Amino acid sequence: FNVPTPINEPVKTYAPGTTERASLKKALEEARSKEIEVPMYIGSREVFTDTKIKIAPPHDHQHVLGYFHEGNASHVQEAIDAALAAQASWAALSWEQRASIFLKAAELVAGPYRAEINAATMLGQSKNAYQAEIDAACEFIDFLRFNVKFMTDIYAQQPESSPGVWNRMEYRPLEGFVFALTPFNFTAIAGNLPAAPALMGNVVLWKPAYTQVYAAQVLMKVFKEAGLPDGVINMILVDGPVAGEVIFKHPDFAGIHFTGSTKVFQTIWKTIGENIAVYKSFPRIVGETGGKDFVLAHPSANAKAVATGLIRGAFEYQGQKCSAASRAYLPANLWEPIRGYMQEALAEIKMGGVEDFSNFINAVIDEKSFDKIVFYLEKTEQSDGKAEIIMGGKYDKSKGYFIEPTVILTTDPGYVTLCEELFGPVLTVYIYEPDDFEQVLDIVNSTSPYALTGAIFAQDRYAIETATRRLSQAAGNFYINDKPTGAVVGQQPFGGSRASGTNDKAGSVLNLLRWVSPRVLKETL
Ligand code: GLU
Repeated sequence: FNVPTPINEPVKTYAPGTTERASLKKALEEARSKEIEVPMYIGSREVFTDTKIKIAPPHDHQHVLGYFHEGNASHVQEAIDAALAAQASWAALSWEQRASIFLKAAELVAGPYRAEINAATMLGQSKNAYQAEIDAACEFIDFLRFNVKFMTDIYAQQPESSPGVWNRMEYRPLEGFVFALTPFNFTAIAGNLPAAPALMGNVVLWKPAYTQVYAAQVLMKVFKEAGLPDGVINMILVDGPVAGEVIFKHPDFAGIHFTGSTKVFQTIWKTIGENIAVYKSFPRIVGETGGKDFVLAHPSANAKAVATGLIRGAFEYQGQKCSAASRAYLPANLWEPIRGYMQEALAEIKMGGVEDFSNFINAVIDEKSFDKIVFYLEKTEQSDGKAEIIMGGKYDKSKGYFIEPTVILTTDPGYVTLCEELFGPVLTVYIYEPDDFEQVLDIVNSTSPYALTGAIFAQDRYAIETATRRLSQAAGNFYINDKPTGAVVGQQPFGGSRASGTNDKAGSVLNLLRWVSPRVLKETL
């Protein structure tokens, strides 16, 4: 199979004076000065409705970026019909034709759409320029390019033949449509969840998060301009339960590609179970859900490296990554230097809107998320000494949903913010006596239901080996002497188990395998 060898898209710096900075600034100004209308994309149609919902930047919620057009159950049915109508001709295209469309989409994002997709992600999701670049540009491009390579790796897997018999495996798409339900926090994930099944020859209904619609429209424009035939990916903007009511009762429902909360995924799984006799085939259920990701430092760790890992792991993109470091277990001998380095770093960090590129911290996604995080901060203030806020802790939603990077210190290994997912810029720290390292491994392993990412910082090889072995089920992505965020497509396939999902490793052959239904042909010659 002759496909371009994928390389990870180089990250642009947006340093002052660069042309990329100038074009991004221009795209931001343009986006702020107009009001967009985001329709649904169903088959060949752009569908506008009477229900218009405001799109506002989380860091400036009174500003109107535009409106999206919300649909209802009949739009969902129309989208299913459009997908099924496109199915046969899409599946009949050669793999090269499908690949070339997604490789073209990667080139469009790398070039002409780069500023627009980054600006949309910055304004719509309050991501700063660097976080938008590594997500909406680089990670999305990487998904598209690497998936083409993984697709051909799958097609290359063929059975043996024997004299007079030719056996072969045909990697058919699923029979029916795939539902992609995508989150606000990564534009790359929002794009990859529909794109990966489509690349393998499937037709897709895609429902982006309402808080990610601005960038979702740019993704849709990219797919169309790259030559994706009508009906292969249909973007619906419909309330989740309303859409689910139609989708999960449809006989042609063939699979779900999901990133979002554990609770929603459990509800979906249950609904699919209840309707299992309705479907033509057993649906594929692929989901990446929550995380409560740990950083464990051994007494031999480098304190500065731990502090840097914590600041970046916990606070980049306001902690709104499933992979974010949100619980830290630190040895008493290193706590003072780690605390000192963190205080120094936090004193330098600026918080504000994304338009000022020097702001490291921006707003959290919406009022619901803001209120939830504040609830935990208030709870901590009233926790009678069980836990205390030792850095940050201020919040203000008058202009945007701003919460300072916050560190909570607790003496209780079962404390609520040490075990539950908050999805915000809050890190909870537990200090242990250096002799208790082995007991702490048990605490890390057993006090949270999730198992997405985790990190061990240590210079002692024995400690690294012990933690790696004893925490083997505690994380699907385990980092040794690095922060637990920032998995790179093709380098660190991503996903976790337990309450964190089905661990089908986004950005790998394993994920794409879920979107094919192989047929074996035996031909007697
Ligand atoms: N892949 C991202 C990372 O490694 C996290 C994805 C997510 O938040 O869902 O940081």
